[in-house]
Amino acid sequence: MDHAEMTTHQKAVANMPAIHYLLGMSATTKLLRDRLSATVGNSRVREDEPLAKHCNWRVGGPADIFYKADSATELETGVRLARELNLPFTILGFGANILVSDFGIRGLVILNRSHRIAFLPAAVVEADSGTNLAVLAKEAARQGIGGLEFLVGIPGTVGAAVAVNAGTRTEWISAILDSALVLKSSGETDWLPAEALDFSYRSSRLKESGEVVLAARLKGRPCEPEVAERNMADHLRVRKTQPTGPSTGSVFTNPDGDFAGRLIEAAGLKGFQVGGAQVSEMHANFIMNVGGAKAQDMQRVITHVKMEVEKRFGIRLQEEIRYLGDWQDQQ
Ligand SMILES: Cc1cc2nc3c(=O)[nH]c(=O)nc-3n(C[C@H](O)[C@H](O)[C@H](O)COP(=O)(O)OP(=O)(O)OC[C@H]3O[C@@H](n4cnc5c(N)ncnc54)[C@H](O)[C@@H]3O)c2cc1C
Repeated sequence: MDHAEMTTHQKAVANMPAIHYLLGMSATTKLLRDRLSATVGNSRVREDEPLAKHCNWRVGGPADIFYKADSATELETGVRLARELNLPFTILGFGANILVSDFGIRGLVILNRSHRIAFLPAAVVEADSGTNLAVLAKEAARQGIGGLEFLVGIPGTVGAAVAVNAGTRTEWISAILDSALVLKSSGETDWLPAEALDFSYRSSRLKESGEVVLAARLKGRPCEPEVAERNMADHLRVRKTQPTGPSTGSVFTNPDGDFAGRLIEAAGLKGFQVGGAQVSEMHANFIMNVGGAKAQDMQRVITHVKMEVEKRFGIRLQEEIRYLGDWQDQQ
């Protein structure tokens, strides 16, 4: 595309590396980079890491400072450093429920790949917050523990699943959560019982509090491995009706007594497209990146869908996905 044809937004995105270069990184951000490098190793800390490659939607600009935490200790270290320096930090799991702005995320972004799993007495499973939900369900099944099978089809990590109370239509992680190890804003870490986390449909107090889940204990039950395997296969079979490709699953939560997908379809919005973002023809609550989408395309489709559904049915849909990064210039 010719530069003259670009919108202001597109020009800003195209010029971002230049702006970054001219302004340079703030002294505090450099300090964070250096202190983090000294702790986890120079080669693991990256500047201007493109986040599109770490998010399911494959959109989004760069992170100022980025590293992958391979353990709960490494996750905690990054958060503590950022807090000490008063810099913002963001935890990414699989990026399966987020929309990162084209302008990226300021401060520190930690890709959480902590992955320790321990089996405790009474069929309790303890897992680091970066543990893949599918791996967890399968490992539990192998150990003769059931009750976690529904997690097999939810793309994501344990910590995010707890923060957003992930689940299916009939099962939620909050219902099997015994407790979560939380790094509080005060700097303390504490095993908090599920009741302390104010769970509701796709929500918990952790969604807004800035607290970080380091690990979780889930209550399973004894189960023959073959039975758990069969249950997981059933969960995965149901998923076959979902679109495949870059998406975040359901973009909107279901309003009371109805389904966001049904409303969007009834508003005639299947196939509605802006740039590379398209309302799925297969499942209207999914928005797909059909190629080359920008975060702004996604946001425009979301805004249009909300407006049309409200106009037609008087129902204001709420996003299930979280917006991360700089959105002021994109609204
Ligand atoms: C094809 C598809 C199907 C899906 N189906 C379902 C479904 O059936 N049910 C369902 O609930 N969801 C579903 N989702 C959405 C998604 O899988 C869940 O929301 C999942 O919990 C996201 O996990 P994540 O690790 O990718 O989180 P991310 O998208 O990386 O992060 C989500 C939010 O959690 C925060 N976060 C991440 N880690 C932590 C932590 N350790 N402590 C505190 N906050 C944290 C992030 O900062 C962000 O705000 C689906 C998504 C896709 C792509």
